[in-house]
Amino acid sequence: MDLDLRFESVHEGILVSGTASVEVTGECGRCLEPLRFERDVDIQELFFYSDSESLLGEDEEQYRVEGDAVALEPVLRDAVVTSLPFQPVCREDCKGLCSECGARLNDDPDHHHEVLDPRWSALAGLTGTAAESDAATKSESDEREES
Ligand SMILES: [Zn+2]
Ligand SMILES: [Zn+2]
Repeated sequence: MDLDLRFESVHEGILVSGTASVEVTGECGRCLEPLRFERDVDIQELFFYSDSESLLGEDEEQYRVEGDAVALEPVLRDAVVTSLPFQPVCREDCKGLCSECGARLNDDPDHHHEVLDPRWSALAGLTGTAAESDAATKSESDEREES
């Protein structure tokens, strides 16, 4: 993370502003391909002096100058994390993975499976059984009529 920050002494405390350049690494939310991108995040946060009367309400989250230092980490973390996409993708039209075998559909756009979805083949089995038992019932009643 590269920081380009300016610290200004203002009446209530220290105003920190600038840019954090971060390199983000992760994986595509669809195809799990590793991805990496750069992002510049604008930072602006006022650290109040511990003894200053704050202008904000009690329930507002406030950063404070601790001794003669400011804790940048939570500020940077909040700024960077909220700027990240919820589900990063390697590219906008990423096709993701085949739900059957996990193949990367980006590499093989024509990829498909001839086999029936197992849920459908289970249904096919059900209708087959139903037809058979219908036939069985029918032949039984036929026999009954004959006798
Ligand atoms: Zn992807
Ligand atoms: Zn597949």
